[in-house]
Amino acid sequence: MHTIPKKTFPFLNSSEMMDLLRHEKSGTPDADIELDEDLSNHAGSNKRIICAACGAHITDSSFLTEVQGNTSHSFFNPHGYVFQIECYRKAPGCFSTGVPSAEFSWFAGFAWQISVCATCSEHLGWLFTGDGPSFFGLIRDKISESSDRT
Ligand SMILES: [Zn+2]
Repeated sequence: MHTIPKKTFPFLNSSEMMDLLRHEKSGTPDADIELDEDLSNHAGSNKRIICAACGAHITDSSFLTEVQGNTSHSFFNPHGYVFQIECYRKAPGCFSTGVPSAEFSWFAGFAWQISVCATCSEHLGWLFTGDGPSFFGLIRDKISESSDRT
């Protein structure tokens, strides 16, 4: 798993991200690249998904859920960085904050809120709510899989 150096990672806090999203709305179209990665090796083995920064238990691999046909999605941001998110039905270790915004969303019909680690406040992804079941889009580089069984 490669790690994007923190200082080049653009989504450092919510206000920066909101600015980026506003710019992106009127700028470059977003690109949703389908990943070919096979997540089927997760099936049947429930693993703890932990915060890569502090190790707090965030969610479980059994909560992985398909959104628009895929459990993982990659996006370009306006700076050309690609990042990958994985979709989870629940993420009890996340704290979601801010007013849900539908102004711009990678997922049509869904509004997003910032989701941070409830333990260390590291930005882990977004909570998407809207048409259909809500889900968390967690940034793959910000979480890791624990070998401990739940
Ligand atoms: Zn944490």
